[in-house]
Amino acid sequence: IAYLDQQQRRRLVPDGDVEHGASGNSDQDILRALDVDAAVDVAPAAGDFGGMAFVLPARYLRPSTAEDIARVVRLAARSSCLTVAARGNGHSVGGQAMAGGGIVLDMRCLGPPVKLVLCGGAAAAVDVPGGALWAEVLNWSVRNHGMAPVSWTDYLGLTVGGTLSNGGISGQAFRRGPQVANVAELEVVTGAGERCVCSSSSSSDLFFAALGGLGQFGVITRARIPLVPAPKMVRWIRVVYRTFEEYAGDAEWLVTRPDSAAFDYVEGFAFLNDAADPVSGWSTVPIPAITGGFDPDKIPADSGPILYCLELALHYDHREADQVDERAEVMLQPLRYVRGLEFAADVSYVEFLLRVGRVEEEAREAGTWATPHPWLNLLISSSDIADFDRAVFKRILRRGVGGPMLVYPLRRSKWDTRMSVAVPESEVFYLVALLRFVPPCAGEAAVKEAVAQNREIVRYCESKGYDFKVYIPRYESEGEWAWHFGRDWALFVERKRRYDPAAILAPGQTIFSRAR
Ligand code: FAD
Repeated sequence: IAYLDQQQRRRLVPDGDVEHGASGNSDQDILRALDVDAAVDVAPAAGDFGGMAFVLPARYLRPSTAEDIARVVRLAARSSCLTVAARGNGHSVGGQAMAGGGIVLDMRCLGPPVKLVLCGGAAAAVDVPGGALWAEVLNWSVRNHGMAPVSWTDYLGLTVGGTLSNGGISGQAFRRGPQVANVAELEVVTGAGERCVCSSSSSSDLFFAALGGLGQFGVITRARIPLVPAPKMVRWIRVVYRTFEEYAGDAEWLVTRPDSAAFDYVEGFAFLNDAADPVSGWSTVPIPAITGGFDPDKIPADSGPILYCLELALHYDHREADQVDERAEVMLQPLRYVRGLEFAADVSYVEFLLRVGRVEEEAREAGTWATPHPWLNLLISSSDIADFDRAVFKRILRRGVGGPMLVYPLRRSKWDTRMSVAVPESEVFYLVALLRFVPPCAGEAAVKEAVAQNREIVRYCESKGYDFKVYIPRYESEGEWAWHFGRDWALFVERKRRYDPAAILAPGQTIFSRAR
């Protein structure tokens, strides 16, 4: 691997300084200077998980150091219109990590390896390259030090730089904050090709700009993530609700409890009151790999077409194992779920965090991992969520989306408003994630229909004047972006001018155009 790294490094930065290797400033001169007989096949950088956008870059490069990236960005800045996109693991769904005719950086190749950092006292953190997968961070931290970060995404095949450019949300966020709120320090290569180390106390404007900044202000080459002792075990619980009112009432109560009385994880999803639907119906409720299926006799006769499942987790260590039953019972007791429709399993912490890996395996087998994914993620104020349930879950989506429909509350006070990411105004807002998996046989019409349905849902939220934001947004026009960021748009534009004045970075977000 060291040999390969050296080879890659020589190719990307040949014979001294590639900046002086370019014979002129035309785009072709610049590309030739990078042309490092090198060139990795560009095709993989032309698509993403969404499977709906295809844009060929001119070069797909494998930087191994932050300095490589800085040089590529400085070279691009000399050209008339070359852009640079960091590609994490390409799990965007709308071409956000692409650069048509530009340069895509394969962040998965970036070093140096993950490293433990002692921060004084008992505090520790981990320094990770921007292209590390969260699964790698988890395995490394737990295996080598029995420690782990506190905030996750559901699926860990995403890169640190990719989720920190968006938010990074899962069931821990109501209590610990999203991933962007759990970063001690970043190293960033700005659009001027400068390497900067920043934190909340040093170059803080760049630090907060980059967090949730959609890759607009710099390439995150390293992140320092605080660690805590990793829990050993997790009591993983799912309970079913007949009405949205009871579901949302209990979920909001749970996420506003004091830490001493709170679960460690709160999520949930809507599902179809339907035996026959294998991807959105009853069968999606029981925790995988436990005995005991879904007993339909327990569903109250007056239930509607949509039911709700609250997903909870309690961390514990082996020495607390004899108390976990009682703890869970006491915490579940006040909840208004349907008695008899509860499911629980005890799994290791790592197994719990890697749980969506199983979904990936199943989707790969079914062929739906490789088909298009017209996903829609929304953040919707608690004051609007009951109306959303009535109009969207119960009407527009009454037949499901061919995959999970997550809906669970988060707390605004756990997000630092200095970060770039846009969230609703109210203290409690919901993540709604419509994770559509299109069957291989469904064809283009099904994809178009799903995209149109997403538009209809967003239009509905707008027409009702909801306090909401699209999470991992995809807009085409400046007006839409200005609307998305609201009163923070002026700051977003000013930060762009400050850190990437020629608009070289992350063109696939279609927010700014490359200045000539
Ligand atoms: P990419 O798609 O490669 O990049 C995303 C954007 O970030 C692009 O604009 C890119 O240029 C930019 N970028 C990438 N790396 C860097 C970097 N180092 N520095 C600066 N900019 C960079 N999100 C959640 O919050 N919670 C979830 O539970 C969750 N689950 C998911 C499950 C699946 C199966 C999928 C496909 C997505 C999920 N997401 C989730 C969404 C995910 O957070 C985003 O799609 C994220 O952008 C993907 O990360 P990536 O590493 O593949 O980034």
